[in-house]
Amino acid sequence: MFKKILIANRGEIALRIQRACQELGVKAVMVYSEADRDAKYVKLAEEAVCIGPAPSPLSYLNMPAIISAAEVTDAEAIHPGYGFLSENADFAERVQKSGFEFIGPTPDAIRIMGDKVAAKQAMVQAGVPCVPGSEGALPDDPVQIGRIARAVGYPVIIKAAGGGGGRGMRVVHTEAALINAVQTTKSEAAAAFGNPSVYLEKFLQNPRHIEIQVLADKHRNAVYLGERDCSMQRRHQKVIEEAPAPGIPRRLIERIGERCVAACKKIGYRGAGTFEFLFENGEFYFIEMNTRVQVEHPVTEWITGIDIVRTQIMVAAGEKLPFTQRQIELRGHAIECRINAEDAYKFTPSPGRVTMWHPPGGPGVRVDSHVYTNYYVPPNYDSMIGKIITHGDTREQALARMRTALAETVVEGIQTNIPLHREMLVDAKFVTGGTSIHYLEEWLEQHKR
Ligand code: ADP
Repeated sequence: MFKKILIANRGEIALRIQRACQELGVKAVMVYSEADRDAKYVKLAEEAVCIGPAPSPLSYLNMPAIISAAEVTDAEAIHPGYGFLSENADFAERVQKSGFEFIGPTPDAIRIMGDKVAAKQAMVQAGVPCVPGSEGALPDDPVQIGRIARAVGYPVIIKAAGGGGGRGMRVVHTEAALINAVQTTKSEAAAAFGNPSVYLEKFLQNPRHIEIQVLADKHRNAVYLGERDCSMQRRHQKVIEEAPAPGIPRRLIERIGERCVAACKKIGYRGAGTFEFLFENGEFYFIEMNTRVQVEHPVTEWITGIDIVRTQIMVAAGEKLPFTQRQIELRGHAIECRINAEDAYKFTPSPGRVTMWHPPGGPGVRVDSHVYTNYYVPPNYDSMIGKIITHGDTREQALARMRTALAETVVEGIQTNIPLHREMLVDAKFVTGGTSIHYLEEWLEQHKR
């Protein structure tokens, strides 16, 4: 096992990784920007290194600063968390070349999965079902593009090969709008992702977002840890997640889970990863793979009893997965509400001083957050400040516990999206389960205020 790990992230996930290190008896080095200097999780770490000013390009995205922090502290491995450099193949490569272990898959695996066209091709080859669409990137010839779209059938969605975070996508309903949409998406993609290549796929009308968590070691062992339903989204950003997915027969999950495991073995994947699918009319369609730990990993941890972050570290250190597929059993139901520092209905960010922080507790409640009373939420980063996760023997119990947890939570000084969560948790359709990826936005449209 490593003696010392550098955590190249901030906020709740940095604290989450630090907790895993403590449990494993591994020393943690925390890096921080000037904006995070006073945060308690930074003070808690055995060592902490300032890597630059508040703007993330100068700190959390600053590769040389992070690597030299690992050098001066003698860390052996770097955990990238999620966001920032976690899916940057060049970073993973530089980490390795500098003699450190990157806690994640190989740079090659990150590179393939980071290019959605290449990822889709790899999945087709591995026998994972994909959304029908263009084979590879779209050609330049408008006539050929028109032909491809007609064959797939409208509506279609144009997606940037290098896209991510819900950006670089455009839905097209008619042939008249097609070429224009392709051109616009291309130039946006070139500017935003440095890669103008786009592809086309069928736009599914009412799917759910279902994803499969996988874990793989360096000895070609891989398992899947069931699924998560992340259909409650706004602007392609997840808001509430749960596991298992309500109403989907186990045999369908098992079949797709086995395909994901086979794909992992085929591509030599290692570490934690997530295969994201759209699910419609009983069919799964692969959309992308995330090659890192995800925000919503706690719901899976709770129903499987497996610590995903700890396992990431163990397999990076060369250990074998300590369980087989057969030993993985799902128990009960877990739900996660992401707590964002933002206006609950207008979604404008609300950074600033938290004058009162009172998290919930009690049976079946977990809070992952780095926030405390008097913590200052910097305006420079993502608005998510924590997560409330509840578990129950049944979905009903997990929901009931979440309602109590949300009622107990007090956050003063800044605005949060907790009022929206409270409304969702009593919404008849959400409570029934199985809502599509459009449900939350439609609800917000109908409840405009
Ligand atoms: P990103 O990498 O930006 O997260 P994804 O490919 O994972 O992009 O897509 C994000 C979201 O966009 C999905 O969860 C879904 O809501 C929507 N989406 C993507 N592809 C399609 C499609 N073919 N049909 C309908 N919705 C889609």
